[in-house]
Amino acid sequence: MKSMRIYVSSVAVAFLVFALIAAAATAADKKPVKNAITMLSRSESEWKKILSADQFYVLRQQGTERAFTGKYHNHHAEGRYLCAACNLPLFSSEAKFDSGTGWPSFFAPLEKAHVEELVDLSHGMRRIEVRCARCGGHLGHVFDDGPRGPLPGADRKSSKHPGDGPRGPLGSGADTRSSSRQSDGPKPTGLRYCINSVSLRFESDSGSQR
Ligand SMILES: [Zn+2]
Repeated sequence: MKSMRIYVSSVAVAFLVFALIAAAATAADKKPVKNAITMLSRSESEWKKILSADQFYVLRQQGTERAFTGKYHNHHAEGRYLCAACNLPLFSSEAKFDSGTGWPSFFAPLEKAHVEELVDLSHGMRRIEVRCARCGGHLGHVFDDGPRGPLPGADRKSSKHPGDGPRGPLGSGADTRSSSRQSDGPKPTGLRYCINSVSLRFESDSGSQR
């Protein structure tokens, strides 16, 4: 009788273990396929040698450049924006819009797998941090107050940027040039990738960098 009970319980344990393994395998299958980007790992002291002081502060220490001081917030050439640290293509000029915030703003990344999004609870806020998927460099944050319909150009002057948005009358006089180049590019998503210029390197369609 006792051996019978041991037999039953060991069968039960075996079944339980099997069920757990199966459940774990199923859960693993459901995980999104990890992107094909191979992470670049460098020590912080290596990055310090490669990057400028401003780049190191933003990319490696999650800093934020001052609004309206970067070189791309009012930049309208056609091309791609690469990671300033590792040159991974991150954003296209086709998804760039004038948010009026003083930071280059995009409604979508060039490739979803090229950016990594993480919850950032710093500074008493809950924000979604955006990083380069290859080198882990900090790019900025993504908010859900981006354009949804056709881009009219200078309509988003009051964009919210908790904590570090522009104060006062900044943003007035933002240009309306973007309205002329909305054609058959990607559709606005309602997202606003608010990115530091210093984290980016522009490459025009003709291949020259600025
Ligand atoms: Zn990178």
